[in-house]
Amino acid sequence: MSEITENVRRVLENVAEAAIRAGRSPEDITLVAATKMNTAERVQEAIAAGITDVGENRVQELVEKRVQGAYDGARLHFIGHLQKNKVKNIVGVCSLIQSVDSYELLKTVSDRAAAAGIVQDVLAEVNIGREAAKSGVMPEKLGELLACAAEFPGVRVKGLMCVPPICDSPVQARKYFDAMYKLFVDIKGEKYDNVYMCILSMGMSADYAEAIAAGADMVRVGSAIFGERHY
Ligand SMILES: *Cc1c(COP(=O)(O)O)cnc(C)c1O
Repeated sequence: MSEITENVRRVLENVAEAAIRAGRSPEDITLVAATKMNTAERVQEAIAAGITDVGENRVQELVEKRVQGAYDGARLHFIGHLQKNKVKNIVGVCSLIQSVDSYELLKTVSDRAAAAGIVQDVLAEVNIGREAAKSGVMPEKLGELLACAAEFPGVRVKGLMCVPPICDSPVQARKYFDAMYKLFVDIKGEKYDNVYMCILSMGMSADYAEAIAAGADMVRVGSAIFGERHY
């Protein structure tokens, strides 16, 4: 068995175990393989091994790998920082754009989707660690952003996503996951128009089990599947 195949099976098993420990069903958790810097061939290997969802970070890389058939057989997510002028390349191509973090981006995605006659599913990315250098809407501005979703029929906001600060241990990451879960539940209670809080995307290779324990239903895992990245 190839290393990628072995890794996919192990991560899927760990996800299922974490789900059960959290009193949830393994099918309720979606494993998204984060494929940045991996060739189309390696991505296809992961899909053959059981990966159903893949996430890409850079629009340029996504466009190039897509024509090579990298994502065939899986749902494609966009999980990286998104610039307005690149939106046209991914609307309708990705089943979920996870990194919408501003009014302008929400509007640009919606306009583009509406022009194409589709509705684009998105997540709102939250800067849960309030880091100056990171994308994501600040937690206290999230409500304001989500209230705008009602103006944009070209999008459907399906939930929240975050990339917490780099932590020394999964235990440290847990406080950010708990804070995200609380936001997720609070927003659900607010009942904003055109906002459906059904996906909470958080947890990466080092801490996906903790994220599931804290309430994630989507985890994004790269290096635990593909090995360490060499930049
Ligand atoms: C790379 C990446 C991941 C996966 O990171 P690993 O630590 O390799 O699992 C998840 N989410 C985003 C947004 C990423 O860019």
